[in-house]
This record gives sequence, structure tokens and C-alpha cells, in this order.
Amino acid sequence: MKYDYLVIGAGISGISSALLLARFGFKVALLEQAPRPAPLIEGFVRNNVYFDAGFHYAGGLEEGGVLDLNLRLLGVADDLEKVPFDALAYDTIVQSQSGLSFSFPQGYEALGNTLRGRFPSHRQALSEYFERLKLVTQGLPYYNYHPPGESVSMGLASLHGQSLSEVLDELAISGELRTLLQVHCLLHGSLPSEIPFAIHAGVVDGYYGSAQTFKGGGRALAAALVTALKRCGVDLFCRHRVEEIEVTAAGAIAAIRCTNGIRMQASACLATLHPQALLKLLPASVFRPVYRRRLAALAESPGAEMVFLSSPQARKFLGRNFFFLPEKGKSSFDFELPLSERLLYLNFSGLGGLGGSGGSASDWDCGVTAILPAPYYESGKTVVSSANYADEKRRTGELVRERIALLLPELGPGLEVERVATSKTLERINASARGSLYGVKHMVGQFNPSAKTRLAGLYLAGQATAAPGLLGAITSALMAVGAIVGHDRVEALRGDML
Ligand SMILES: Cc1cc2nc3c(=O)[nH]c(=O)nc-3n(C[C@H](O)[C@H](O)[C@H](O)COP(=O)(O)OP(=O)(O)OC[C@H]3O[C@@H](n4cnc5c(N)ncnc54)[C@H](O)[C@@H]3O)c2cc1C
Repeated sequence: MKYDYLVIGAGISGISSALLLARFGFKVALLEQAPRPAPLIEGFVRNNVYFDAGFHYAGGLEEGGVLDLNLRLLGVADDLEKVPFDALAYDTIVQSQSGLSFSFPQGYEALGNTLRGRFPSHRQALSEYFERLKLVTQGLPYYNYHPPGESVSMGLASLHGQSLSEVLDELAISGELRTLLQVHCLLHGSLPSEIPFAIHAGVVDGYYGSAQTFKGGGRALAAALVTALKRCGVDLFCRHRVEEIEVTAAGAIAAIRCTNGIRMQASACLATLHPQALLKLLPASVFRPVYRRRLAALAESPGAEMVFLSSPQARKFLGRNFFFLPEKGKSSFDFELPLSERLLYLNFSGLGGLGGSGGSASDWDCGVTAILPAPYYESGKTVVSSANYADEKRRTGELVRERIALLLPELGPGLEVERVATSKTLERINASARGSLYGVKHMVGQFNPSAKTRLAGLYLAGQATAAPGLLGAITSALMAVGAIVGHDRVEALRGDML
């Protein structure tokens, strides 16, 4: 079979890219190294408890929200049942030492009212903050939907404008309010002083609008995406780890070769894997040394330790997340802090689990997922030594369990560790160079790769190019396919969704 495009990596970016290319009439093959597609977002079931892994909740899923429309565009919306998180407290922020406790209610209006009530002296600054947020998202590529015929300008310049910290400084927002407006940095993995305000806005705007998940969680999302691939005639090849993109002497793509011995001819390729992993697939001469050095030097988002726990009481917190912050003045991404003091994010993924997926399990129990920033895993280095890896994981699990039992005593004595994952696990699952949460960081002054490359026929998508998260990954696919077929054609297709 001769394909027009070979897409490397069947995560959200790769699947979305493949679906969009198929929509434009291309014959597409999608190659994934893992045994199953979308390995990062597919949750798992352990002892009848469902756990989400790389997808817990999303913003912008409300009717007509950006993600709602994106999922319609990809043809998966009808196969997914949305479930809203807690209306009054979808994210609860706690800083024990300072006594800070705040819950984010669903929707812009409720959030605005709650924040203005709590911080009356910052009323004006808050209005300006929300205005700036809305304004900057208007210029983000493939963020807002525009009716057919309306002219669209993509404000790429804003992506390298001010950082979140600079905007908060300008608005003289400090203290607890500042802490609350910065807390969602965990969702993209860059510090407030690093993240371009525009990218931060593109992440939090959706969540401020609504926080939801899908019945069946990340597993249901993965299943819906795979069904759509079948409908669109995309051929999916799992257990196909690409080890080389062959390039002719004239500088054109000739074929890709996989570690299982399969070689597929191709003249065009869309790669969604980590940019540093991409470098290993190509002859060194393909890119200029300066570009190679730029990709090799891209800063990485934090690593993570993840502890999956069960408790008979977990359902009490259905549809809620907790962010237990480190002491005032300590960075949320400081992984030198002991586990008992580090940022601790808790997700109660019961909403995802209830209902199961594919009708196989109708009533899985609600699990507790804990995520803490952690050192990177670096193969060959000793951040995680293999000799005592299992012991280390057990110790991590126990320490985190004890901390949760203290913080949320309602979870009771039945709280048990089911599984522990580390940066080493993430390195294996998303093939990020160092087992980070979201691969390459997005930072003011750091130029992440864009969709078009110097090698004719090679395009890039993936969380490194646009932003992390379900929305960032789909946006990266839109940007890559826009670079291939023309942004006006992709915008026209989006316009039809309205
Ligand atoms: C712990 C955690 C929690 C998260 N929670 C949320 C959340 O609640 N909401 C949200 O929106 N986002 C969340 N995210 C982020 C989100 O999961 C990611 O941003 C998104 O899934 C990235 O998709 P991607 O396709 O760009 O990358 P990936 O999913 O990493 O896809 C790349 C794919 O390429 C494959 N691959 C790599 N190398 C090769 C090769 N040589 N040959 C073939 N295949 C290859 C990989 O196996 C992988 O499947 C979370 C992430 C993590 C880690």
C-alpha cells in the first residue's frame, strides 16, 4: 500500500493529524511504537478501580467551547459522553501553613464573583486580568472558531510576549490571589516566570469556562479516537517503532524503517514525537547544526511521581481535584523538597470510571490519582537506580499514602496504594527524552519547533509545537495540517462546525 502521509506516534496529536489529513483526502498510515494507540491517555483498571493516567479533565468542553468544537471537527463528539466536574469546587487549592483554602467554581461568572468577593481590593485588577486573558486568546492560532468568510489573523507574536509573572506584576496582583492565578501552571509544566501569558491563557481560559471529563475517562476518549480512525480509513499500525526516516541524496523523504524490520515507502511524513527523539531518526545533514542544537537544548517540563490509590471513601470526592501547595515562597516545581512538602495534586477519577468503557465494566470504583513533580529520569544516570527501583517506588507510595491520609482523613483507613509510576514510566510511555510530564516546555525566549521543517515533506505536530494537554495536542495537529493544505482551508473546515 502506498500512503500519502506516514504519521509517527498515535497519541492525541498523531491521531488528530491523521484524522484531519484523511478529511483532506490523503491516504494515511499511523505508526505507534506501543502495543495500543494513545498509551498516554488510556487509563487502567486495577482491583475493579479505574484510574486515569495522562488525562484527568479538560476545559472548553461546554457546548460551543473550543474543545467541544474540536472534537466535533475530529468526528468523535457523538461517541463521547461529557461529565462535568463538581459545580462549586472542581479544583480546591490548599496551602496548609498559610491557611489558604480556595475552591474554583465552574464557569467564568461564578469564578469572577467568588474571586471579587474574596479579594475586594483587587476588583479592578481581576477585571483587567480576565479581559487580557480573553483578548490574548483571540490571537491564538486555531483557538477561536470563526464563521466561514470571516478573516482570521493568527497572533503568533503574542506567543513570545510577556510571561504570566510579568502580567501579574503589571496588574499589581500579589499574595493569595497571585497564588490562585498561578496554580494551573501544573497543567502546562512551566513556571509563572517562564510561561508566555498567551499560552497560559490558552490553557486556563477553557478550564475557567468549564471543567469536565468523559464517561469512561481517557480510555473512552482513546476508544472514540480509534473508532474515528477506522471510519476515516486511516491504517493504524501498533508495535511499529520508527527507527529511521530515510532521506535520498537529493534531500527528499524516501521511506521509514521500523525496529520490527518493516520498511514503508513515503514521500511525506508527519512526526509527533519528542523533538529530541526526532533528531535520532534523521541523518545529521538534514537539519542545519544551529537547528539541531536548538532542538537538543530545548528545556523540559518537570518529571513526575504518580501514586494510584484506592479507598472505599473515594467517591465522596467525585469530580474534584485538590492542589496541596508547598509552603509559601517555595516553588511548585521544586522536586528537591521532601515528598511530604512538595506540590501534591489529587484527582478523583471516579467520574471517568463510572460507566466503564465499551460496555465492558459498568461500575468500576473511583480511584485517587496523586501526582507530584519529581526529578527527571535519565537513562544511564542515577536519578532512579534500577537496583532499588522497586523499593523506591514502594517507599514513595507509602509516604504519599500517609500524607493523603493526614490531609484528607475522610478517606479513612482503607486507603491503599495500587500502583506507583515514576519519570521512568513516563519516559517509556511518551518517549520523552527525560520522562517529563509534558515533554518540552513552553517558555518566553525559547523557540520550540514549528510545523514546517527544512526537509521537504516533513512536518511536525505534538505537544512541543503548540501546547500540552488535549487541547494543545489537537491544536498542534491543526497547525501541522494547516501548514500542509493551507490554513485557509483548515479554517474553512472549522467554520463549518458553527
Ligand atoms: C500525568 C499526566 C497527566 C495529564 N493530565 C492531563 C489532563 O488532565 N488533561 C489534559 O488535557 N492533558 C493532560 N495531560 C497532558 C496530555 O496527556 C498530553 O499533553 C497529550 O496526551 C500529548 O499528546 P501527544 O500526542 O502530543 O504526545 P504523546 O501522547 O506522547 O504521543 C506521542 C506518541 O508517539 C509514540 N512514539 C514515540 N516515539 C515513537 C517512534 N519512534 N515510533 C513510533 N511511535 C513513537 C509514543 O508512544 C506516543 O504514543 C497529562 C499528561 C500527563 C503525563
